Amino acid sequence: MSEEHTRQLMVKYFPKCPICKSEANYSVSPSNVVVQCNSCKAKFSSEDFKDPRKDLIHLSLFSPPSTLINESLISTLKLMQNEPYHFHFWQNMKLNKTELEQQLAEYRGESQPLPPLPRTLFGLSKESVAQRAVQYMTARGYRLISRTESVLVFEDGKDLNVVILILGILFLLLGAIIYYLVSTKHTITVTISQTDKGTEVQCTTNTTGAMQIANDFLQSLPKT
Ligand SMILES: [Zn+2]
Repeated sequence: MSEEHTRQLMVKYFPKCPICKSEANYSVSPSNVVVQCNSCKAKFSSEDFKDPRKDLIHLSLFSPPSTLINESLISTLKLMQNEPYHFHFWQNMKLNKTELEQQLAEYRGESQPLPPLPRTLFGLSKESVAQRAVQYMTARGYRLISRTESVLVFEDGKDLNVVILILGILFLLLGAIIYYLVSTKHTITVTISQTDKGTEVQCTTNTTGAMQIANDFLQSLPKT
């Protein structure tokens, strides 16, 4: 009875195996919580199988497939092992290593904020955009370290954790100095160019913090 319930849930949500995409052909273990795809031999499990009143929401990979799949995917699939993923994830799962890793990062909320998009302004000259950039970045603790007619480079202090630095100084002086030397600086490069459409402003950054400030700066510029 329960075995049949588990199989029905699998077929309902996965008429094709989420990994090898073969037509549903599942064996259910006597424990009723592990299901094997008979084509690729991947095993799945779910807490949701335990309660016959429940629908299937989350499914975990119990063990990766042994056939029918690109070898390079196995290492990524192993990282997913025994972690519950929503059935939507499985239904839309990418079968290319790079795409799957990207999908996993997004699912886990690890994806990076988007880099700033260039903006084109109409009523502002290159010089006035440059002045605004200096004003905006200075107010946020950035220094102008290099400047040409079209490119301004700003740099923040060291990107480091002050507590770690102080603890390091107290206990491990050499470690603290090395930590200070290797930690990254936040850098924002503002490039301003004149085009037919207006003054184009573009920012490139090297850290998430700098990216955020560059985005805010671009948004702060008036449209006209
Ligand atoms: Zn399969």
